[in-house]
Amino acid sequence: MSITVKLLRVYQADRQIRGLRGRVQAAERFLGQHERNLAELDAKRASLKAQSRQLQATLHNDEAEIAGLDERITKLREQLNAATTNKQYTALLTEVNTFKADKAVVEERTLESMARLEEVAGALAEIEKQRAELVKLRDHAAAERDARATEIKDRLTELEAERAIAAADVPPDVMSDYEAETELRDEDVMASIEEMDRKRMEYCCSACQVLLPMDVVSTSINGGTICRCPSCRAFLYIEESTRDAAIPSKR
Ligand SMILES: [Zn+2]
Repeated sequence: MSITVKLLRVYQADRQIRGLRGRVQAAERFLGQHERNLAELDAKRASLKAQSRQLQATLHNDEAEIAGLDERITKLREQLNAATTNKQYTALLTEVNTFKADKAVVEERTLESMARLEEVAGALAEIEKQRAELVKLRDHAAAERDARATEIKDRLTELEAERAIAAADVPPDVMSDYEAETELRDEDVMASIEEMDRKRMEYCCSACQVLLPMDVVSTSINGGTICRCPSCRAFLYIEESTRDAAIPSKR
């Protein structure tokens, strides 16, 4: 078995491993999106809850203020009833009216707070509904991700073992070149040599479609040392059918 064929076994295992991992990664991304949506909603929810607490505190203070004003108005009214002079009566009445005006202002504010509180409660209820839906979606996505991870686990272990065996069979220097190239590109680390025109001996790299020099083609056809595409640096291999067709004696 030539080095190229040995390397091809590694490459094929790598492609299958990447394909399997890709299925989990897609589920992972989907789950991540749901988690981000949920976090966004939770931030809105926290902000609304804080608003609600603040409004309730304001409302509570205003109600206490109204009670205080009521108390003073009641006292003044008692004094008003007991007033003996007109001047005294007028002064007390002015004071009562001032407190009543103050009370009206606070009451107005209370109504506003209550209306706002109702709005916030409505928005919160809507968010809780959305949240329940999102949690369902998120949990579903998490289960899907877990299911896919479980689904590929055995096959992945198998492929990784196959890959390790295949890699051990490839000379270390070729293997490290291959690993370095894999770091640079996900796809097409290996590319086949494609026949363009047999009579004119024109062959190209399937990854970049660039015409390959004759010496590269003949080395590959003869199953010699590992060849790389001079243009895109892919490791080249030749399909048996292409090679057989290229060797006149075999035709
Ligand atoms: Zn190429």
